[in-house]
Amino acid sequence: MIDPTIKPVRDMAVADWSHRADVVVAGFGIAGVTAAIEAARAGARVLVLELLGGGGGAAAMSGGFIYLGGGTPLQKSLGFEDSVDHMKAFMKAALGPGVDVAKIEEYCEGSVNHYNWLVDAGVEFEESFWGEPGWEPPHGEGLMYSGGENAAPFNATIPPAPRGHLPKKSESAEGQQLPGGHMLMQPLIETARSLGVDVLYDCRAKSLIVNDDGLVTGVMVRRYGSDFAVRAERGVVLATGSFAYDNDMLTDSAPHILGRPAASIESHDGRSIRMAQALGAATAHMDATEIAIFSDPQLMARGILVNGRGQRFVAEDTYPGRIGQEVLLRQGGDAFLVIDEASYEEASATVSTSSIMRSAPKWVCESVAELESEMGIPAGGLTSTVEVYNRHAVSESDPFLGKKPEWVRTLGTPIAAYDLRGMTGGFTLGGLKTTVDSEVLHVSGEPIPGLFAAGRCTSGVCAGGYASGASLGDGSFFGRRAGKSAAASTRTTPASDQVPS
Ligand SMILES: Cc1cc2nc3c(=O)[nH]c(=O)nc-3n(C[C@H](O)[C@H](O)[C@H](O)COP(=O)(O)OP(=O)(O)OC[C@H]3O[C@@H](n4cnc5c(N)ncnc54)[C@H](O)[C@@H]3O)c2cc1C
Repeated sequence: MIDPTIKPVRDMAVADWSHRADVVVAGFGIAGVTAAIEAARAGARVLVLELLGGGGGAAAMSGGFIYLGGGTPLQKSLGFEDSVDHMKAFMKAALGPGVDVAKIEEYCEGSVNHYNWLVDAGVEFEESFWGEPGWEPPHGEGLMYSGGENAAPFNATIPPAPRGHLPKKSESAEGQQLPGGHMLMQPLIETARSLGVDVLYDCRAKSLIVNDDGLVTGVMVRRYGSDFAVRAERGVVLATGSFAYDNDMLTDSAPHILGRPAASIESHDGRSIRMAQALGAATAHMDATEIAIFSDPQLMARGILVNGRGQRFVAEDTYPGRIGQEVLLRQGGDAFLVIDEASYEEASATVSTSSIMRSAPKWVCESVAELESEMGIPAGGLTSTVEVYNRHAVSESDPFLGKKPEWVRTLGTPIAAYDLRGMTGGFTLGGLKTTVDSEVLHVSGEPIPGLFAAGRCTSGVCAGGYASGASLGDGSFFGRRAGKSAAASTRTTPASDQVPS
């Protein structure tokens, strides 16, 4: 699509600046609010531009998992040992390949401090733990394994610790359950307001404004059909979310989630990424995606997942987001959940936060051979898998994929299968390449002066893999860095752009 309005505007051409602030933040979700708070605390006048009619973004609608560890007070009070080194080792192993090592190291080293910062800002965490498979804890528990730390292959080499921290849930005055993301964003937005942060709603950041030295000096904005210029005296922070809803960008970079966006909102159209690219910004891991599978983890852990050839491919008791990635990226989206009646009954009796995923199976049969035939799997594909699985399951072991003994059950009859083809969706993890101080990098490797970014418009701690909480985690952690850096920005011209005297 041709869009000339994405190109940077020369500030000499701006006749009138309608608003001025030291730091201008585009987007009032998790990265934007944390940037605004830190910039304001550093003494900057902050103006936030938000596309929607209210603040919070995807973050306010989210489950609220925030990935923290290395010995947070919540981990300690619940009796879990964790260390910065174990957290680093897990994140490097699970979130790659090609992770930004410097970002992961800073993130892990600053994690306990970040937990305390959130608590000081008014975020509360429930002192309770949920240890079973699930997308979210069913009773609002505050801590959970959220990345497969306690499952194969990671539990064999890296001491596991639960790091998915969930803000305490609450109810609205009308008795409606408020998601954890709301309970995270509400105190942060209130903190920003108490610091004097100004917010303009219904404003779409359209393009960047630069001076002749290449410094970013403002943002062009569209509101109610009119365009105006906003001046940033110290820096601009881009925090407008992912590109999960931009079909052109998905076609180019992450076509596997084209038409199946999930855990994102329509305003995630990649505008910030393209605005900065128009200035020469570098990007990283544009193909990386979080992928959810819409299936109940309590059922998956007790059954077996097979591909279109009837073969198992993942330990079924791991983080369901890891299962989603395996299914869509490595099995071409072909997946079936096979479970017998006894395990189905057992799973159905558990409390679930995934009740909408607890539909009836598609096929129910009296034998594995009959089921295999109904599913369209070539003869012998599923029967041989079940025979080998059961051979080891009698001694509660899974030597092929390492499912933990507590979830290994022999498969008997009657036996059923769910059709999970097409049951995946997700959001993008790639974006602008930034430093650990959230400076946006030019393709030359130098920071673009006056330009900072955080959240899902950047490539953060996840390069390919994912753990629940990593988005709110790196969005808030590096959002804070972006706000501090922008407030401290001295606006120097990059060396390569200076005219030799
Ligand atoms: C249902 C659901 C559950 C989720 N659960 C979790 C979870 O438990 N843990 C986790 O880590 N992540 C979760 N996520 C994902 C997480 O919410 C997002 O990845 C995260 O909020 C991204 O942070 P952000 O600041 O980049 O974007 P957002 O928080 O979405 O903020 C971006 C803001 O920018 C605004 N904006 C967009 N374009 C413009 C523009 N041009 N100009 C001005 N403003 C603009 C948007 O309207 C939005 O308010 C979930 C998401 C959903 C929807």
